[in-house]
Amino acid sequence: MDKLYFVVGSQDLYGDECLKQVAKDAERMTAFFNEKLGSKVKVELLPTVVNSETCIADLRQASCDDECIGVMTWMHTFSPAKMWIKGLQELRKPLLHLHTQANEKLPYDDIDMDFMNLNQAAHGDREFGFIVARMGIPQQVVAGYYEHDDVIEKISKFIDVARAINFSKHLKVASFGNNMREVAVTDGDRVESQIRYGWECNYFAIGDLVKLINEVTEAEIDAKMAEYTSKYTMKTDNVAAVREQAKYGVALDKFLAQNGIGAFADTFQDLYGLKQLPGLAVQDIMGRGIGFGPEGDYKISAFSAVLMKMAEGRKGSTGFIEDYTYDLTEGKELELASHMLEVPVSFASTKPEIDVLPLGIGGKEDPARLIFDGVEGDGIQVTMVDMGTHFRIICADIELVKQPKPMPKLPVARIMYRHKPNFAIGTAAWCYAGGAHHSVVSTALTREDIALFAKLTGTEFITIGDDTTEADLDKLAAPRCCRH
Ligand code: MN
Repeated sequence: MDKLYFVVGSQDLYGDECLKQVAKDAERMTAFFNEKLGSKVKVELLPTVVNSETCIADLRQASCDDECIGVMTWMHTFSPAKMWIKGLQELRKPLLHLHTQANEKLPYDDIDMDFMNLNQAAHGDREFGFIVARMGIPQQVVAGYYEHDDVIEKISKFIDVARAINFSKHLKVASFGNNMREVAVTDGDRVESQIRYGWECNYFAIGDLVKLINEVTEAEIDAKMAEYTSKYTMKTDNVAAVREQAKYGVALDKFLAQNGIGAFADTFQDLYGLKQLPGLAVQDIMGRGIGFGPEGDYKISAFSAVLMKMAEGRKGSTGFIEDYTYDLTEGKELELASHMLEVPVSFASTKPEIDVLPLGIGGKEDPARLIFDGVEGDGIQVTMVDMGTHFRIICADIELVKQPKPMPKLPVARIMYRHKPNFAIGTAAWCYAGGAHHSVVSTALTREDIALFAKLTGTEFITIGDDTTEADLDKLAAPRCCRH
């Protein structure tokens, strides 16, 4: 179970009685957090920080614990911040700074100097905030009485993002082959990706996978087919072609497990030994939270896995998508987003159908794929690009809509959406910002979630939505040297 460590700050100037009360309050609060957030994390209270040594011990424990997704701090009394410096230098987990109090209301009739000295988060949390800011450590500050719903909600959102960051720091990404020839945006600095996000991006020969595919038994294919037919409707008579995909599915499962891989990328220009492009197999695997990037796009593969982890337990769909084509009817502009095959099954609003149809690219046999219409509702479209000096995350608010008319001849899954604030500004902003044609669409996550991820990972963040104006386009269009 994921853990969130709760570290409370104080000092020994006010005596043992005071520290006993601090510990008691902290325990009561921890119990409350576990009651409210226990389905997501176990909140574990560490010894009260009263000097540099306890701080180092606490934050070292958090940093070395693989189950720990983050640290929540709160200064019950005044905790002089120099005693936090060395501990904070050892902190390698996302930090939530909870600015709260043990008491909700001020006891006007009874308040005395003892009460004021004991309950001085207004004082202590500012001291703590200073040292965190001074040290340049990213923090999420949540302010308010800890029992209030909005505070619990904000902590809950932090937990989702922190869980995703912890996942990211352990993520291994496999690239079968390199990038699709000549494509720019799918490329990127894999060394920086590992330094900043933890992604271990490594190359694997497609032959390694083909070897596993060739070893798959008929019984294993039968089992995978049973899995597919329990979830999806079989629309084709070409069972042999579907069994071929089932074989890829079995082999991919083994490959991912054997190598501890959480995301992978391939390119249709390097699929030697495969009869079909992996369609159905990959669509199904993405539905289980495994990241995938086509055309060698390791970034969107890893990023989609991270965002699927962030969305875990929430209502809605999250997955990889590719911008394809528009309906430019004036005032009613829509985008049709899809891929040549690999649209994650998580986007299905109708029961997916398995079909086998020709594919005009790749030079392989007709691949089996899942076809369905996409989900509707408010969502976001997010991408990550490498600007040469840094990574940039772009997040656009979108509205996923029902396709206005059937598309009986389009043999792939698809979603449709409306751009915000409108087509002209929304898509122009995306282009000015350098946004990729590969992205992650989510109806489970919000702009705030992605903003927090960007903040905690120190990534440049650009948003597009109803608050984007023509004037913003000029700012985005300005050469980088003219901006900060
Ligand atoms: Mn593409």
